[in-house]
Amino acid sequence: MGMANNAVFQELKHKVGDVIDGAQDRLHRLSTDIWSCPETAEQEYKSHDRLVAFFEQEETGWTVDSHYKLATAFRATWGPAGGTGDNDSIHVGFLCEYDALPGIGHACGHNLIAELGAAAAIGLKAVVESTPDFPVAVQVTVLGTPAEEDEGGKIDLIREGAFDGLDVVFMAHPSQEDASWLPDMAVQSVKVRYHGKETHAAAYPWKGVNALDAAVLAYNSVSVLRQQLKPDWRIHGIISHGGVKPNIIPAYTELEYYLRAPARKDIPIFKAKAEMCFRSAAVATGCEVELEFARNVFHNVLRNPTLLRLYELNGEALGMEFTTDEEVLTNPSGSTDFGNVSFIVPGIHPYFYIGSNALNHTEKYTEAAGDHKAQFYTLRAAKALAMTALDVLLCPELLQMARNELKEANLKEEQTLGMSTGEKPVEEEARP
Ligand SMILES: [Zn+2]
Ligand SMILES: [Zn+2]
Repeated sequence: MGMANNAVFQELKHKVGDVIDGAQDRLHRLSTDIWSCPETAEQEYKSHDRLVAFFEQEETGWTVDSHYKLATAFRATWGPAGGTGDNDSIHVGFLCEYDALPGIGHACGHNLIAELGAAAAIGLKAVVESTPDFPVAVQVTVLGTPAEEDEGGKIDLIREGAFDGLDVVFMAHPSQEDASWLPDMAVQSVKVRYHGKETHAAAYPWKGVNALDAAVLAYNSVSVLRQQLKPDWRIHGIISHGGVKPNIIPAYTELEYYLRAPARKDIPIFKAKAEMCFRSAAVATGCEVELEFARNVFHNVLRNPTLLRLYELNGEALGMEFTTDEEVLTNPSGSTDFGNVSFIVPGIHPYFYIGSNALNHTEKYTEAAGDHKAQFYTLRAAKALAMTALDVLLCPELLQMARNELKEANLKEEQTLGMSTGEKPVEEEARP
């Protein structure tokens, strides 16, 4: 079979690059339109419509489901096509994000993630479509996944079955450097509300119940807890509502916290510890406390060594220089809802340089994500992803290795349950 021939293989990879380069103006317009109209989590209606229009009107052959399972999610799917008819199709997924941050626009560059997912998908499709003897049947799906910066749309989509049947999943995220994997942490967010009783702060303070005191005690208790945590655990929060006027004893306060740990198995233990801080502050002040844990826990991102290595090889062939900075590679970074995907489908979520040293979640990064300079790097990462997909499609043993690695990684996570602290995780229970 010709496909085993390395020269043919290289030619197909080259073709992916040509297709993506050929579409660069349209792809740039796509990301510019999303960048120019930043929408926060679960409000990404215009970005959703723009992406849907891209696959329905600018491209051919895609079946598009707008508002797919979530109001601002979508699905564009093509195939199965190719193959000899005697084997099952391989279903490749590319993920798009397109939510922005409140106040500072596309400071995480999710407009580039959307562009990149679209670019990789149309590149792969074009190559499979135009290769008459392509050896396997292929289906390509682009999933638009909202609210990464907030509730985690991918987790909702997993629950809704949107990832069922996908064999391998790809996306890439803008950063300061090229890195095939960074240690993204598991995270649980929580809102804490204290209800006290207002009164005149000077005339009869003894008649009040001070909800701000509860908030401050909780904040301080968490600060004390912090020194007893493992060094790679993170808890950080704000007082989002602290009262209305100094001469009114605050009747209501609200805090918001993120609890992060390197492994999802640590989150229930972490929750239990933080909860003691929040509840004891209520007891000390006589307030009522209300804890609202976010519906979705983001998981850490599992490594898939086979896919990571393939991406690195393809990236290097395209001129990427992967970071060797130990601090970047080992320090806990942020969190992503791709973590949950990484537990169920073999996949990768590499980071890519966009031509700027600005840091994510700053206005400077917003500028960089809208700059023409980011285009070269974004499309290069798209090519590397599509080329990695080709590797997997043309060498079935690679896909099997990736599947085995996912199984092993899951098993390892199970076996080490609670080991990092020596404690058993507490049972999850429903809370109001
Ligand atoms: Zn972000
Ligand atoms: Zn992001």
